[in-house]
Order: sequence, then structure tokens, then C-alpha cells
Amino acid sequence: MALWKRKKDKSTEAPGTGDSAVQDEPNQDEPIQDDSSSDQPPGDGPVAVAEPDPDPQPEARGGLFGRFRKAVRKTVDVLNTDVRDLFREEGELVDDEFLKKLFALMVKTDMGAGPAGSIRDAVGKKYRARKMTIHQLAEAASEVIVEIMEQESSDLLMATSGPTVIMVVGVNGSGKTTSIAKLTHLFREQGKSVVLGAGDTFRAAAVEQLTIWADRLGAEIVTGKQGGDPATVAYRAADKAKETNADVCIVDTAGRLQTQKNLMDQLTKIRNVIKKVIPDAPHEVLLVLDATAGQNAISQARGFSDAADCTGIVLAKLDGTAKGGVAIPIRQEFGLPVKFIGLGETPDAIAQFDVEQFVHALFDLDGKS
Ligand code: GDP
Ligand code: MG
Repeated sequence: MALWKRKKDKSTEAPGTGDSAVQDEPNQDEPIQDDSSSDQPPGDGPVAVAEPDPDPQPEARGGLFGRFRKAVRKTVDVLNTDVRDLFREEGELVDDEFLKKLFALMVKTDMGAGPAGSIRDAVGKKYRARKMTIHQLAEAASEVIVEIMEQESSDLLMATSGPTVIMVVGVNGSGKTTSIAKLTHLFREQGKSVVLGAGDTFRAAAVEQLTIWADRLGAEIVTGKQGGDPATVAYRAADKAKETNADVCIVDTAGRLQTQKNLMDQLTKIRNVIKKVIPDAPHEVLLVLDATAGQNAISQARGFSDAADCTGIVLAKLDGTAKGGVAIPIRQEFGLPVKFIGLGETPDAIAQFDVEQFVHALFDLDGKS
């Protein structure tokens, strides 16, 4: 599977279009201007930058399947205990009562009521008044979930020529900066040059955190003054990427809530100044969601995808929850593809999302958990 895909020529996107925010050319030397101080995210915390895993042993982790398996371990546990208990060895008669219990247990896996209902209905349609085994259930459920989760490729959209620009957005602490380190790691492994833009200018620690990653991963970094205009940093980062003919430019942003209108408008401004440098950028606007936030992650995605024109989701911290089932409603409710999942704090703890592998990891009830 190719990791990256060339972006289709978007000739409809006229260079330089955008709102009036584009007109004020960001100036590196302009005085610190912060029109959103009332919405400032909480202040500095200690900089946490995980050490790279000295011995990653990808084989021992079982490759992609093993990684997905880890992400859905608790979901699989529910299937392998409570759901298994629903069945007798020779199979179970599918009737209304069975379907009701099945629905309740499926909801318990974090997949959400919609997908749980779809599984119940599919099972009812195919097996009502007949006996069904747990393996037949796993098969029927897999089919339903693959259909629900089907998405365009999770390959990143890449510029046809010149640097690819990726903006990374989300609420505070969702895993944006760490995900940027992971993406940088992937790009560097492919021999691509990367320029990072430290667009979280609210917190000095955020710049420090990204700077440490840049040094470790061999990326260039553009920083600004603390409290300065993040659009200026984004502009300079895109400019540097263009000047140095870098392959990729990744722009970090401060955490924000979709309800903070001025901060959401600021994302539009950042996007527009990037466009001034590279007209068809940003090529990706990745929304980083914290999988441990459960339903909250879903409501965040709802607000953000509308307000920030996101192009894809990075589902971070799936190792923390192991209830990877949450990826299902996230995929179902939004028109956004899940592109990557985060599985830890180190730069290599990332996997490109793959629906088939994910569903296989979820419903392979005989595999090791
Ligand atoms: P940001 O505020 O959105 O930039 O979030 P950070 O990238 O700084 O991450 C916040 C915290 O979550 C840090 O302690 C990270 O190490 C941690 N974190 C980020 N991604 C993951 C992940 O995939 N798994 C785990 N376990 N921790 C993560
Ligand atoms: Mg950050």
C-alpha cells in the first residue's frame, strides 16, 4: 500500500482566493498581536517529549495487525467475553430477545448505537429463527462495519509539485504536536525533507517541544515570538519550505475549541496566508482527536470539521483507551477519512489507517489479544 498519493490537480481552486484576512501580509517584525487572549488555552506545562523507543522491534509488535489489535484490545475483550457468553457451542437461536442483548453488548464496545443497530438488523435479517454461531456473528458484523467505515484512501494528499503543506488542528492536549513528530518521522524515513512551523505561539513549552522533535528527527523549524501571530509563523514556514525546496511543511497550531469563534477564524487566517505562498496549500488539514475522550472526541470532530475545513482525522492515543471501537462512529458521522492512528508517545507509534485491517483486528475472535 502506497503511503502517499499525489493530489489531483485542483484547477478550480484559483490562486490567491480567500477572504480579506489574506490581504494583511504577515510581517515577521510586526508587534505581537493577540486578538484572542480571552480564549487563551491554559498556560505552560512541563515539556513532555518521549524518548524514541530504543528497540522498536516492529516484528514483535505484530506489524499493522498487531498494532490495530492493541488499539482495540478492550473492544475485543467485550466481544470475547460478554458476547461469547451469548452463544452456546452449537450456536444460538436468533430471536428478538437475542437481538436485544446483542445490540446492548455491541453498544458496550464503543462503536455507538448506530453501528450497533446496523449489526443487529443485519443479523436479524440473515439469521432470524435460525441458529447462529459466534463466528457467523463476527463475519456478519465485519461486513457491516467495513461497509460503514469504507473511505477514500488514507494516503496523504501530496502536492503535484513543490512542498506539501499540512496543517494540524484540534483541542488542547489532543496529541497534535506528538502526531506532527510522528508524521515527520514517517516522512524522514522516506528521505523527505520537512519544515515545521511552530504555530502554537500561546505556550513557550509548545515551541520547545516541537523544537526538540525537529532536532531529533532532522527537520527544519520556524518559530515565532511567544504570544505572536501564528499566521506569521505559518507564512514563514511555508515560505521557508518553498525557498529551500522542502518536500513537506507541517504547521502546528494551538489547541482550541470549536466554540471559540475568534480562534476558529484564526485558523482560516492561517490557511489563507499559507495559500499566499503556495496557492493550492494546505493540502491537508488534519484534525487530531484524543481517542480517550470517547463521545467528546466525536463532538469535537463535529465542530471542527465544519469550521476548519478538515481533510482527515488522526485518532491519537488509541493505545491509552484500547477501545478503538470509537473509530467506527467517528468514521460514520463525518465525511472525513481516518488517516492515521496514534499508538503511543514515541515518533514511531503511528499507523496509517486501513479499514480492512482494523475490522479484521476487531473481529478476529480467535487471534491473540
Ligand atoms: P497537543 O496539545 O495537541 O499538541 O498534544 P501533545 O502532542 O502535546 O500531547 C499531549 C499528551 O498526550 C502528551 O503527553 C503526549 O505524549 C500524549 N500523547 C500524544 N499522542 C499520544 C498517543 O498516541 N498515545 C499516548 N499514549 N499518548 C499520546
Ligand atoms: Mg501542541
